[in-house]
Amino acid sequence: MQNKLYAALDVGGTKIYTVLADANKQIIARQKTATLAEAGPEKVIKQLIATVRQLMKTEQLQDAQLAAVGVCIAGFYDWHNRILVHSPNLPGWSNVPLEEILAAEFAVPARVENDANAAAVGEVSFGAGRNHNNVVFVTISTGIGAGLIINGQLYRGSSGVAGEIGHFIVQPDGPRCGCGQQGCLETVASGTAIGRQGQKAAACGQSALLQSLVSEPAAVTAQEVFKAARLGDPAAQKILHEALTYLGLTLVNIVNLLNPSAVILGGGVTAAGDEILLSLRKIIAEHAVSAAAKAVQLKLAALGEEAGVLGMLALL
Ligand SMILES: [Zn+2]
Repeated sequence: MQNKLYAALDVGGTKIYTVLADANKQIIARQKTATLAEAGPEKVIKQLIATVRQLMKTEQLQDAQLAAVGVCIAGFYDWHNRILVHSPNLPGWSNVPLEEILAAEFAVPARVENDANAAAVGEVSFGAGRNHNNVVFVTISTGIGAGLIINGQLYRGSSGVAGEIGHFIVQPDGPRCGCGQQGCLETVASGTAIGRQGQKAAACGQSALLQSLVSEPAAVTAQEVFKAARLGDPAAQKILHEALTYLGLTLVNIVNLLNPSAVILGGGVTAAGDEILLSLRKIIAEHAVSAAAKAVQLKLAALGEEAGVLGMLALL
């Protein structure tokens, strides 16, 4: 068993992060690739297979050493029927039996999990959620998702899609979401949404500062909006204030519903760090049921982009 290997992949709308780990689940090789998301599922699945094979070749490892493959992916994963039903951030993925395809390709057991679920397991096993039994992991990047750990166990719900907080409807007449609904949380508070509103502010002359940070308005991302807000730009501050209000009130609802001892924030948007934590803590303290607000710690994720793959390794 000593030479057995595990492959774990985190498939997002923009990148695929692949690792190989040894029998002790220690990572021995890693690789990051841009997701060819627009090319559709067939092409992306080919990418997943190729990245595992390439890493194994680079590390001079044999196919026979591979013991299992785990993939976490941004999408609605039906855990009972083992099918990726739909992905708002990966065009064309509908009812894809990813586990079956990977198991057949590598001739080893394969396991697929929603990316936020995997990251929640990663953070509870190795990161900011250690020593907590009731944890909500929230990821804010291209989209918004959550993984729920209840009584120490991953909670998937009755068809595997529990935790889809990015599709809480917060603005019934708001922007159209990749899931088909209007005004989902991720259309007003994700990194993509913050960037899009920044682009608008730069294009219509509301923010000269945002305009000055990029070559053209379309190049504004959430990062520039955070930067402009920090430099005192009123338009950028308003965009962030709105996004954080929607996010904060969603956390209030979650805290009231589940009474967790930790809410862990991950994803690209949380790179802005303390300013986000302080705003959200204040909203929770002011609006959540007081006993629930007092019981919860709001923390930043500790594992960064490795949370998903470490979670998959823990699950394999
Ligand atoms: Zn949605």
